[in-house]
Amino acid sequence: MGLLDGRKAVVLGASSGIGWRIAERFAEEGADLIVAARREDKLEALVEKTGGAAVRCDVSDDGQVEALADAALERWGRIDVAVNSAGVNGPGRISDIEPEYLQEIAAVLFFGFYYFMRRMGNAMAETGGGSLINVTSATAIMVPEGNAAYSGCKAGVNFASKMAALEYGPDQVRVNALAPSFVPTAMNAYGGMTPTDETHVQMEEDLPIVQGFLDETPLARITTVDECADVALFLASDLSSSITGHVIPVDGGNNLLRLPRWGPPRRRREAAAPPATD
Ligand code: NAP
Repeated sequence: MGLLDGRKAVVLGASSGIGWRIAERFAEEGADLIVAARREDKLEALVEKTGGAAVRCDVSDDGQVEALADAALERWGRIDVAVNSAGVNGPGRISDIEPEYLQEIAAVLFFGFYYFMRRMGNAMAETGGGSLINVTSATAIMVPEGNAAYSGCKAGVNFASKMAALEYGPDQVRVNALAPSFVPTAMNAYGGMTPTDETHVQMEEDLPIVQGFLDETPLARITTVDECADVALFLASDLSSSITGHVIPVDGGNNLLRLPRWGPPRRRREAAAPPATD
């Protein structure tokens, strides 16, 4: 018997990385799936393994998110679990940020998460409740430097997840955020990290970013997609039936220490004089 036997689950951002592994894990535990993202060829490959249906959805377009919720309701008459694992990288500093760039990142990482919470939350509220899971980031719990657009949006979604938990609670809709720190997926596949399949990236151990996370993480290892998927499974299942409104770091305890630095050196802070008093 699986933890999600017969549950109807929508996983957005399932064409790669954490979302792909969450979809696989849910299927292993008996869920019926709709997987969604923009790349339909990837989704079809996933559905061959997990069963279920693939729906193309760009989360930055509210009409497409509404259509995704409608497709699930038409297929099942209800939605029990909805995960938003869509994401794009958004590095940069506030001092350099251009409006077009900020809007592009926020379209996915901020507005898209609101659209998803509203459409899925309303559908769940009308059909008996469920569990909504936003994949956010531990870089929105600690304060990063050089990740302004990304982490600012994620912090907004961490807060909005709590507001949604308040709003939807009486309808038995639970809302939680799953906040990884650094997970080797395609999102992090730059110099020294090579994708090996849809969910994994091989890392050179001596990369500064990898060493930085190892040094600043109490468990002294890098979090995996499997560990993220297991927490999503917990949040989706009745094991967490009294848990709502939480942001759960999945980071080996990294939030207890600090984010490693991998950008340009921090600007030196000169000793400042105290404010003048008359
Ligand atoms: P990934 O392998 O690059 O996956 C990103 C997913 O987002 C893909 O399925 C992609 O699919 C989808 N996506 C991107 N833009 C989209 C859009 N406009 N509409 C719908 N789907 C869209 O990266 P990942 O590491 O699994 O990231 C998953 C989530 O974890 C993201 O929210 C990310 O911010 C968060 N996270 C990751 C890390 C990490 O270190 N990896 C750490 C903290 C948080 P298509 O391109 O096919 O649309």
